[in-house]
Amino acid sequence: MLVDDDQTHWECIRGWLDGQHWIVQEAENGREALNAPAADKQDMILLELTMPEMGGFAVVAGDVSADRPGRPHPPACQCKAIGRERDGISLVIKILYVEDNEDNIYMLKMRLELEGDIEVLVAENGERGCELAASERPDIILMDLEMPVMDGWEATRRLKSNPATRDIPIIALSAHALASEREKALTAGSDEFDTKPIEFERLLATVQRLYANRR
Ligand SMILES: [Mg+2]
Repeated sequence: MLVDDDQTHWECIRGWLDGQHWIVQEAENGREALNAPAADKQDMILLELTMPEMGGFAVVAGDVSADRPGRPHPPACQCKAIGRERDGISLVIKILYVEDNEDNIYMLKMRLELEGDIEVLVAENGERGCELAASERPDIILMDLEMPVMDGWEATRRLKSNPATRDIPIIALSAHALASEREKALTAGSDEFDTKPIEFERLLATVQRLYANRR
């Protein structure tokens, strides 16, 4: 069940939920949610906390205290926009992955996109990465360092010296874990440094932190 009074917010989340092929029941406010028939057994409630008439906290309290036999208490979580709204409907973090190794591209792009709220664009070298960064304005750039045509250090320097792209956070990805490698990447202008093979959860946490700080 999706409980939200904000139309724009609601459309964003609804669009995402529909993409997951879940059955979505809606309520415009807390009272409507509490009055839903007991027969409608939701698996989860997505709940806006600040709503007129009855907010999310009151809904949770009311649901738990209400004497309604047979009615389960599904887990409730707060609706929170985790990605940027684009075209008024979607919640997506747009990542530009600049990488020349096809296996790395395949694996990391798939893992990131399985998260559901991440879109991955790919550039096969630094030069192409600079072009795509300027035209697509990604939220985050993942930058391999050793690449043909233009390497990641040079691409990072160019992106950070271009007013149109310098605010986009860059995570440098290197096969070398040496402190000197990290220093070199940060000196070129990278915001973060991580090593390959990718430790996915760690990289994802870095992506989410940079994205949150950017907003
Ligand atoms: Mg490479």
